[in-house]
Amino acid sequence: MKCAHCFYWRSLNSKDDLTKEELLELSRSLGKIENLSISGGEPFLRNEFAEITRQFVRQNGVRQVYVPTNGYFTERIVAAIENALEEPELDLFVVELSLDGMPHFHDQFRATKNAFKKAMETYDALVEIQEHDQRLRIHAISTATDRNMDEIQRLTTYLYDRCSKMDHHNLAIIRGDRKDPTLHGPHLKQYEELYQNIRRLWAPREEGRYGGIVEPMLQWTKIQTIRNETQVVPCRAGVLAVVVYANGDVSVCENHKPLGNLRHKSFWEIWDSDKARELRELIVRKDCWCTSETFMWPSIVYQPVQLGRVMLGAKVWQTPLPLDESEKLRVSEEELAQLEQESGDPGINAQVPLDGEKQKS
Ligand code: SF4
Repeated sequence: MKCAHCFYWRSLNSKDDLTKEELLELSRSLGKIENLSISGGEPFLRNEFAEITRQFVRQNGVRQVYVPTNGYFTERIVAAIENALEEPELDLFVVELSLDGMPHFHDQFRATKNAFKKAMETYDALVEIQEHDQRLRIHAISTATDRNMDEIQRLTTYLYDRCSKMDHHNLAIIRGDRKDPTLHGPHLKQYEELYQNIRRLWAPREEGRYGGIVEPMLQWTKIQTIRNETQVVPCRAGVLAVVVYANGDVSVCENHKPLGNLRHKSFWEIWDSDKARELRELIVRKDCWCTSETFMWPSIVYQPVQLGRVMLGAKVWQTPLPLDESEKLRVSEEELAQLEQESGDPGINAQVPLDGEKQKS
Protein backbone atom coordinates (compact mmCIF):
# COMPACT_ATOMS: atom_id res chain seq x y z
CA MET A 1 0.00 0.00 0.00
CA LYS A 2 1.06 3.60 -0.37
CA CYS A 3 -0.56 5.35 2.58
CA ALA A 4 -0.17 9.12 2.52
CA HIS A 5 0.44 9.35 6.29
CA CYS A 6 3.26 6.77 6.48
CA PHE A 7 6.29 8.09 8.38
CA TYR A 8 8.38 5.11 7.39
CA TRP A 9 7.82 5.36 3.64
CA ARG A 10 11.44 6.12 2.69
CA SER A 11 12.63 2.84 4.20
CA LEU A 12 9.93 0.45 2.97
CA ASN A 13 10.86 -2.49 0.75
CA SER A 14 14.57 -1.73 0.99
CA LYS A 15 15.47 -5.42 1.14
CA ASP A 16 17.90 -5.12 4.03
CA ASP A 17 15.73 -6.56 6.80
CA LEU A 18 17.44 -8.48 9.56
CA THR A 19 17.43 -12.18 8.75
CA LYS A 20 15.54 -14.60 10.93
CA GLU A 21 18.84 -15.76 12.48
CA GLU A 22 19.82 -12.16 13.28
CA LEU A 23 16.46 -11.58 14.97
CA LEU A 24 16.72 -14.81 16.94
CA GLU A 25 20.21 -13.78 18.04
CA LEU A 26 18.84 -10.41 19.16
CA SER A 27 16.20 -12.20 21.23
CA ARG A 28 18.85 -14.44 22.81
CA SER A 29 20.93 -11.40 23.77
CA LEU A 30 18.07 -9.61 25.54
CA GLY A 31 16.47 -10.11 28.93
CA LYS A 32 12.85 -9.90 29.91
CA ILE A 33 10.47 -8.00 27.66
CA GLU A 34 6.89 -7.56 28.70
CA ASN A 35 5.30 -6.01 25.68
CA LEU A 36 6.33 -6.52 22.06
CA SER A 37 4.97 -4.33 19.25
CA ILE A 38 5.67 -5.70 15.80
CA SER A 39 5.02 -3.05 13.23
CA GLY A 40 5.83 -2.44 9.56
CA GLY A 41 5.24 -1.75 6.75
CA GLU A 42 2.99 -4.76 6.85
CA PRO A 43 4.29 -7.16 9.52
CA PHE A 44 2.44 -10.22 8.27
CA LEU A 45 4.37 -10.15 4.98
CA ARG A 46 7.26 -11.58 6.90
CA ASN A 47 7.22 -15.33 6.28
CA GLU A 48 8.73 -16.18 9.68
CA PHE A 49 6.38 -13.89 11.61
CA ALA A 50 5.09 -16.60 13.96
CA GLU A 51 8.48 -18.23 14.49
CA ILE A 52 10.08 -14.92 15.46
CA THR A 53 7.18 -13.94 17.72
CA ARG A 54 7.22 -17.31 19.48
CA GLN A 55 10.96 -17.03 20.09
CA PHE A 56 10.41 -13.71 21.93
CA VAL A 57 7.63 -15.28 23.99
CA ARG A 58 9.76 -18.27 25.00
CA GLN A 59 13.12 -16.54 25.38
CA ASN A 60 12.16 -13.11 26.69
CA GLY A 61 8.93 -13.81 28.51
CA VAL A 62 6.86 -11.55 26.26
CA ARG A 63 3.27 -11.73 27.45
CA GLN A 64 1.53 -9.20 25.21
CA VAL A 65 2.00 -8.80 21.49
CA TYR A 66 0.55 -5.87 19.52
CA VAL A 67 0.51 -5.89 15.73
CA PRO A 68 -0.91 -3.13 13.55
CA THR A 69 -1.86 -4.47 10.11
CA ASN A 70 -3.56 -3.33 6.93
CA GLY A 71 -5.55 -6.58 7.11
CA TYR A 72 -5.07 -7.27 3.41
CA PHE A 73 -3.62 -10.78 3.45
CA THR A 74 -6.30 -12.69 5.31
CA GLU A 75 -4.89 -16.20 4.92
CA ARG A 76 -1.38 -15.20 5.93
CA ILE A 77 -2.64 -13.30 8.93
CA VAL A 78 -4.84 -16.16 10.12
CA ALA A 79 -2.05 -18.73 9.68
CA ALA A 80 0.51 -16.57 11.52
CA ILE A 81 -1.78 -15.81 14.44
CA GLU A 82 -2.95 -19.39 14.88
CA ASN A 83 0.68 -20.42 14.96
CA ALA A 84 1.72 -17.71 17.45
CA LEU A 85 -1.18 -18.56 19.76
CA GLU A 86 0.22 -22.05 20.17
CA GLU A 87 2.52 -20.48 22.78
CA PRO A 88 0.66 -21.18 26.05
CA GLU A 89 2.59 -18.48 27.94
CA LEU A 90 1.27 -15.71 25.71
CA ASP A 91 -1.50 -13.79 27.50
CA LEU A 92 -2.65 -11.42 24.79
CA PHE A 93 -2.33 -11.07 21.03
CA VAL A 94 -3.82 -7.80 19.80
CA VAL A 95 -4.42 -7.26 16.10
CA GLU A 96 -4.96 -3.61 15.21
CA LEU A 97 -6.68 -3.21 11.86
CA SER A 98 -5.47 0.07 10.47
CA LEU A 99 -8.39 1.97 8.89
CA ASP A 100 -8.38 5.59 7.78
CA GLY A 101 -12.03 6.14 6.94
CA MET A 102 -15.00 4.64 5.15
CA PRO A 103 -14.34 2.28 2.19
CA HIS A 104 -13.95 4.80 -0.64
CA PHE A 105 -11.76 7.19 1.35
CA HIS A 106 -9.69 4.38 2.84
CA ASP A 107 -8.96 2.74 -0.52
CA GLN A 108 -8.01 6.03 -2.13
CA PHE A 109 -5.84 7.12 0.79
CA ARG A 110 -3.95 3.82 0.58
CA ALA A 111 -4.03 3.68 -3.23
CA THR A 112 -5.18 0.10 -2.95
CA LYS A 113 -8.33 -1.31 -4.46
CA ASN A 114 -10.56 -3.24 -2.06
CA ALA A 115 -8.31 -2.47 0.92
CA PHE A 116 -11.28 -1.84 3.20
CA LYS A 117 -13.18 -4.90 2.00
CA LYS A 118 -10.18 -7.13 2.60
CA ALA A 119 -9.69 -5.71 6.09
CA MET A 120 -13.29 -6.62 6.91
CA GLU A 121 -12.78 -10.13 5.53
CA THR A 122 -9.79 -10.45 7.83
CA TYR A 123 -11.87 -9.23 10.76
CA ASP A 124 -14.44 -11.96 10.03
CA ALA A 125 -11.73 -14.60 9.90
CA LEU A 126 -10.19 -13.38 13.16
CA VAL A 127 -13.56 -13.65 14.88
CA GLU A 128 -13.51 -17.38 14.11
CA ILE A 129 -10.13 -17.75 15.84
CA GLN A 130 -11.33 -15.69 18.77
CA GLU A 131 -14.30 -18.01 19.26
CA HIS A 132 -11.93 -20.67 20.52
CA ASP A 133 -9.10 -18.46 21.80
CA GLN A 134 -10.05 -15.36 23.75
CA ARG A 135 -6.42 -14.25 24.02
CA LEU A 136 -6.85 -12.83 20.53
CA ARG A 137 -8.31 -9.33 20.69
CA ILE A 138 -9.31 -7.33 17.65
CA HIS A 139 -8.90 -3.56 17.60
CA ALA A 140 -9.10 -0.89 14.92
CA ILE A 141 -6.63 1.98 14.75
CA SER A 142 -7.15 5.22 12.83
CA THR A 143 -4.59 7.94 12.30
CA ALA A 144 -6.21 11.35 12.58
CA THR A 145 -5.19 13.98 10.03
CA ASP A 146 -6.73 17.24 8.85
CA ARG A 147 -8.51 15.29 6.08
CA ASN A 148 -10.28 12.40 7.75
CA MET A 149 -11.97 13.61 10.93
CA ASP A 150 -15.51 13.22 9.52
CA GLU A 151 -14.48 9.93 7.96
CA ILE A 152 -13.32 8.55 11.30
CA GLN A 153 -16.51 9.78 12.94
CA ARG A 154 -18.58 7.75 10.49
CA LEU A 155 -16.14 4.85 10.54
CA THR A 156 -16.29 4.41 14.29
CA THR A 157 -20.09 4.03 14.26
CA TYR A 158 -19.86 1.66 11.32
CA LEU A 159 -17.26 -0.51 13.07
CA TYR A 160 -19.15 -0.52 16.33
CA ASP A 161 -22.29 -1.76 14.55
CA ARG A 162 -20.66 -4.17 12.13
CA CYS A 163 -17.87 -5.65 14.24
CA SER A 164 -19.40 -6.82 17.49
CA LYS A 165 -16.22 -8.66 18.53
CA MET A 166 -14.00 -5.64 18.05
CA ASP A 167 -13.41 -4.21 21.50
CA HIS A 168 -11.46 -1.02 20.86
CA HIS A 169 -11.08 1.75 18.29
CA ASN A 170 -7.74 3.44 18.85
CA LEU A 171 -7.20 7.01 17.72
CA ALA A 172 -3.66 8.14 16.89
CA ILE A 173 -2.35 11.45 15.55
CA ILE A 174 -0.29 11.71 12.37
CA ARG A 175 3.40 12.19 13.13
CA GLY A 176 6.84 12.19 11.58
CA ASP A 177 8.01 12.65 8.01
CA ARG A 178 4.78 11.72 6.21
CA LYS A 179 4.74 10.63 2.58
CA ASP A 180 2.33 13.41 1.64
CA PRO A 181 3.85 16.59 3.12
CA THR A 182 0.61 18.53 2.59
CA LEU A 183 -1.09 16.28 5.14
CA HIS A 184 -1.30 17.89 8.58
CA GLY A 185 -2.51 17.03 12.04
CA PRO A 186 -6.15 17.64 12.93
CA HIS A 187 -7.39 20.70 14.75
CA LEU A 188 -6.91 19.90 18.43
CA LYS A 189 -10.46 20.76 19.45
CA GLN A 190 -11.87 18.59 16.69
CA TYR A 191 -9.60 15.76 17.79
CA GLU A 192 -10.75 16.08 21.40
CA GLU A 193 -14.40 15.97 20.34
CA LEU A 194 -13.82 12.98 18.13
CA TYR A 195 -12.02 11.12 20.90
CA GLN A 196 -14.81 11.89 23.37
CA ASN A 197 -17.38 10.54 20.91
CA ILE A 198 -15.36 7.38 20.38
CA ARG A 199 -14.91 7.00 24.13
CA ARG A 200 -18.63 7.32 24.75
CA LEU A 201 -19.62 5.02 21.91
CA TRP A 202 -17.19 2.22 22.82
CA ALA A 203 -17.54 2.50 26.61
CA PRO A 204 -19.57 -0.74 26.96
CA ARG A 205 -16.81 -2.73 25.26
CA GLU A 206 -13.99 -0.97 27.12
CA GLU A 207 -15.25 -2.22 30.47
CA GLY A 208 -12.82 -4.80 31.75
CA ARG A 209 -10.68 -4.61 28.63
CA TYR A 210 -6.97 -4.97 29.29
CA GLY A 211 -5.66 -1.43 28.78
CA GLY A 212 -9.16 0.05 28.88
CA ILE A 213 -8.35 2.23 31.88
CA VAL A 214 -5.11 3.48 30.31
CA GLU A 215 -6.78 4.72 27.13
CA PRO A 216 -8.33 7.93 28.56
CA MET A 217 -5.04 8.63 30.34
CA LEU A 218 -3.13 8.23 27.11
CA GLN A 219 -5.48 10.55 25.23
CA TRP A 220 -5.39 13.14 28.02
CA THR A 221 -1.59 13.08 28.01
CA LYS A 222 -1.48 13.44 24.24
CA ILE A 223 -3.78 16.43 24.21
CA GLN A 224 -1.96 18.15 27.09
CA THR A 225 1.37 17.49 25.39
CA ILE A 226 0.23 19.20 22.19
CA ARG A 227 -1.33 22.06 24.11
CA ASN A 228 1.81 22.68 26.20
CA GLU A 229 4.32 21.70 23.53
CA THR A 230 6.39 19.77 26.02
CA GLN A 231 6.55 16.37 27.70
CA VAL A 232 3.69 16.47 30.16
CA VAL A 233 4.69 13.04 31.40
CA PRO A 234 8.50 12.62 31.51
CA CYS A 235 9.30 10.33 28.60
CA ARG A 236 11.04 7.03 29.39
CA ALA A 237 12.00 6.13 25.83
CA GLY A 238 15.49 4.66 25.97
CA VAL A 239 14.92 3.39 29.49
CA LEU A 240 11.68 1.42 29.41
CA ALA A 241 11.23 1.15 25.67
CA VAL A 242 13.38 0.75 22.58
CA VAL A 243 12.89 0.54 18.83
CA VAL A 244 14.68 -1.97 16.64
CA TYR A 245 14.13 -1.23 12.97
CA ALA A 246 13.86 -3.86 10.27
CA ASN A 247 17.43 -3.17 9.12
CA GLY A 248 18.89 -3.54 12.62
CA ASP A 249 19.11 0.14 13.52
CA VAL A 250 18.50 0.68 17.23
CA SER A 251 16.90 3.85 18.51
CA VAL A 252 15.33 5.07 21.72
CA CYS A 253 12.21 6.05 19.75
CA GLU A 254 11.07 6.65 16.18
CA ASN A 255 11.82 10.37 16.31
CA HIS A 256 15.48 10.33 17.28
CA LYS A 257 18.16 9.12 14.90
CA PRO A 258 19.39 5.55 15.37
CA LEU A 259 22.24 5.08 17.83
CA GLY A 260 23.83 2.18 16.03
CA ASN A 261 23.14 -0.94 14.04
CA LEU A 262 23.01 -4.53 15.24
CA ARG A 263 25.11 -5.63 12.27
CA HIS A 264 28.03 -3.58 13.60
CA LYS A 265 27.56 -3.65 17.37
CA SER A 266 25.73 -5.72 19.95
CA PHE A 267 22.50 -4.40 21.39
CA TRP A 268 24.17 -3.74 24.74
CA GLU A 269 27.10 -1.86 23.22
CA ILE A 270 24.58 0.46 21.60
CA TRP A 271 22.32 0.69 24.67
CA ASP A 272 25.23 1.49 27.02
CA SER A 273 27.08 3.84 24.66
CA ASP A 274 27.96 7.48 25.40
CA LYS A 275 25.68 8.52 22.56
CA ALA A 276 22.76 6.75 24.23
CA ARG A 277 23.60 8.34 27.58
CA GLU A 278 23.72 11.82 26.05
CA LEU A 279 20.40 11.23 24.35
CA ARG A 280 18.80 10.12 27.61
CA GLU A 281 20.03 13.34 29.22
CA LEU A 282 18.46 15.35 26.42
CA ILE A 283 15.16 13.52 26.93
CA VAL A 284 15.27 14.14 30.70
CA ARG A 285 15.80 17.87 29.98
CA LYS A 286 12.63 17.67 27.85
CA ASP A 287 14.44 18.95 24.80
CA CYS A 288 12.05 16.87 22.70
CA TRP A 289 8.36 16.05 22.85
CA CYS A 290 5.87 14.10 20.78
CA THR A 291 2.57 12.23 20.95
CA SER A 292 3.78 8.72 20.25
CA GLU A 293 1.54 6.31 22.18
CA THR A 294 4.16 3.57 22.14
CA PHE A 295 6.36 5.59 24.47
CA MET A 296 3.66 7.39 26.42
CA TRP A 297 2.14 4.12 27.55
CA PRO A 298 5.16 2.82 29.55
CA SER A 299 6.00 6.35 30.67
CA ILE A 300 2.57 6.58 32.33
CA VAL A 301 2.04 3.03 33.48
CA TYR A 302 5.47 2.31 34.99
CA GLN A 303 6.01 5.64 36.79
CA PRO A 304 3.66 5.51 39.80
CA VAL A 305 3.74 9.25 40.52
CA GLN A 306 2.95 10.07 36.90
CA LEU A 307 0.27 7.42 36.87
CA GLY A 308 -1.48 9.12 39.80
CA ARG A 309 -1.15 12.56 38.19
CA VAL A 310 -2.53 11.42 34.87
CA MET A 311 -5.37 9.50 36.50
CA LEU A 312 -6.45 12.71 38.18
CA GLY A 313 -6.03 14.78 35.01
CA ALA A 314 -8.00 12.33 32.87
CA LYS A 315 -10.62 11.84 35.62
CA VAL A 316 -10.60 8.14 34.92
CA TRP A 317 -13.29 7.47 37.50
CA GLN A 318 -15.89 9.32 35.44
CA THR A 319 -18.09 7.04 33.38
CA PRO A 320 -18.66 8.56 29.95
CA LEU A 321 -22.27 9.34 29.07
CA PRO A 322 -23.62 6.90 26.49
CA LEU A 323 -23.77 8.39 23.03
CA ASP A 324 -27.27 9.42 22.04
CA GLU A 325 -28.61 7.89 18.79
CA SER A 326 -28.87 11.39 17.29
CA GLU A 327 -25.16 11.98 18.02
CA LYS A 328 -24.03 8.95 16.02
CA LEU A 329 -22.91 9.70 12.49
CA ARG A 330 -24.46 6.68 10.85
CA VAL A 331 -24.15 5.69 7.22
CA SER A 332 -27.41 4.65 5.57
CA GLU A 333 -27.64 1.20 3.97
CA GLU A 334 -27.92 2.77 0.51
CA GLU A 335 -24.93 5.03 1.04
CA LEU A 336 -22.86 2.15 2.31
CA ALA A 337 -23.77 -0.02 -0.68
CA GLN A 338 -22.70 2.86 -2.91
CA LEU A 339 -19.42 3.33 -1.01
CA GLU A 340 -18.60 -0.35 -1.18
CA GLN A 341 -19.30 -0.40 -4.90
CA GLU A 342 -17.03 2.61 -5.41
CA SER A 343 -14.31 0.86 -3.45
CA GLY A 344 -14.14 -1.83 -6.12
CA ASP A 345 -14.38 0.65 -8.99
CA PRO A 346 -11.32 0.41 -11.25
CA GLY A 347 -11.59 4.16 -11.81
CA ILE A 348 -10.20 4.69 -8.33
CA ASN A 349 -6.57 5.80 -8.18
CA ALA A 350 -5.58 2.40 -6.95
CA GLN A 351 -2.97 -0.20 -7.39
CA VAL A 352 -3.17 -3.79 -6.40
CA PRO A 353 -0.26 -4.67 -4.12
CA LEU A 354 2.36 -7.09 -5.34
CA ASP A 355 2.12 -10.67 -4.27
CA GLY A 356 2.97 -10.74 -0.57
CA GLU A 357 5.63 -13.38 -1.21
CA LYS A 358 7.59 -10.86 -3.26
CA GLN A 359 7.33 -7.98 -0.82
CA LYS A 360 9.47 -7.24 2.18
CA SER A 361 7.89 -6.09 5.36
S1 SF4 B 1 9.24 12.57 23.89
FE1 SF4 B 1 8.90 11.62 21.88
S2 SF4 B 1 10.66 12.31 20.67
FE2 SF4 B 1 11.21 12.61 22.82
S3 SF4 B 1 12.22 10.69 23.42
FE3 SF4 B 1 10.08 10.51 23.98
S4 SF4 B 1 9.18 9.42 22.24
FE4 SF4 B 1 11.12 10.28 21.53
